[in-house]
Amino acid sequence: MRLSQFFLPLLKENPSEAQIVSHRLMLRAGMIRQQAAGIYSWLPLGLRVLENIENIVADELNKAGCNRVLMPTLQPAELWKESGRYDSMGQEMLRFPDRAERELIYSPTNEEMIVDIFRSYVKSYKQLPINLYQIQWKFRDEVRPRFGIMRGREFLMKDAYSFHIDVEDARREYAKMYDAYHRIFARMELMTVAVNADSGAIGGSLSHEFQVIADTGESALYYDAAFDEVRSGKVQMSGEEMRGLYAAADELHIPDKCPVPKDRLREARGIEVGHVFFLGSKYSKAMGVTVAAADGAAVTPEMGCYGIGVSRLVGAIIEASHDENGVIWPESVAPFRVGIINLRVGDARCDALCEQLYDTLGGYMDTLYDDTDARAGEKFARMDLIGLPWQVVVGPKGAEKGAVEVKYRKSGEKVEMNTESVLPHLLRGIDPLAQDSATGAG
Ligand code: ATP
Ligand code: MG
Repeated sequence: MRLSQFFLPLLKENPSEAQIVSHRLMLRAGMIRQQAAGIYSWLPLGLRVLENIENIVADELNKAGCNRVLMPTLQPAELWKESGRYDSMGQEMLRFPDRAERELIYSPTNEEMIVDIFRSYVKSYKQLPINLYQIQWKFRDEVRPRFGIMRGREFLMKDAYSFHIDVEDARREYAKMYDAYHRIFARMELMTVAVNADSGAIGGSLSHEFQVIADTGESALYYDAAFDEVRSGKVQMSGEEMRGLYAAADELHIPDKCPVPKDRLREARGIEVGHVFFLGSKYSKAMGVTVAAADGAAVTPEMGCYGIGVSRLVGAIIEASHDENGVIWPESVAPFRVGIINLRVGDARCDALCEQLYDTLGGYMDTLYDDTDARAGEKFARMDLIGLPWQVVVGPKGAEKGAVEVKYRKSGEKVEMNTESVLPHLLRGIDPLAQDSATGAG
């Protein structure tokens, strides 16, 4: 993409409505635009990140045997009356009539509809287990939408639902999703802690919230230092070992009963980016679903549900990875992997070198080429603000001998090299986490 053609409406001033850094940077970098309280348009730069995150989530779930579907955002109110949630959802759920005066709702979550799909097709234990998911917009009329897309009213969620013949099988799937979540967040270079959100389910805890550690998080939590050690690669642990680690939300943490010694206990704030949850037969029962077991008996299936805040993740990643100059995108979600800066547009050598680089790099990775005639300082600041992992700077002096400067945004490290070395240099740096995330938890 040439910057001269790219719609990138940057803000010069810090927007006064933004209280946290991710909101401020998303507005300044032209990623989103607020259209109403908690309702946003995604502009080209923001949409690229959102889609990259979506792709990582889908990729790991597909590998874990989940089936992607897409359900409508608008649903008949009848389904919600069946489950009993029509009344209990209260004002968070948006309701309105269509022209025939049939009541519709804008989905805040999808248990009812997924159960409706399931019961239409699945009649036997032989068709179980099954895990269905979607990545779709939700609407919740939150009392206090804030922090930009972090707590929006309309937001993008991955929601998965699994069906099982018994609790034991639901537990197996729960463990599988728990591990998949660690892989997903590791690929985004996020340090997450899976907080035990025990909802009193049968046989131990079957509810975990995945929290990104960040000072601006809404929840306070306590956790075993082992989480940090696993993420930094100092310690290796299986999914099962990780599920056994202590982590608790503020209100569930009782210092006297905490199994972690004081010097191993970490206190932090977190942003909830995901939730895995054993549902039991709450919805399948309420909606009258049964399947035939091996002995022919009619059994109510057990369910699990698994959410990820896809749009919230954009903000959470920025909270975890930025500096005073702007965003620092992890390679795996970056809107472009590299930005080429032409310091002297109109200079024949610079132009030719940039075009050549743009062509070569563009064949391997998403490349943004700053071909505008802005001043050098403005170009550097802009490229830092939008946070691409790599910058390739082409100036008239270097161009004379075919040399450019390559900057790594994260460390600020700059290396001069000849044009042919740029591609191999950048390819070596790509997605170092994708590989070890494929081999196990953490
Ligand atoms: P929270 O406690 O933050 O309100 P929740 O428990 O209501 O979240 P879930 O129903 O578990 O949320 O939804 C799954 C995921 O969707 C959450 O883990 C979170 O990442 C995301 N999410 C929930 N509400 C919002 C929102 N208003 N804006 C953006 N993302 C959200
Ligand atoms: Mg939750």
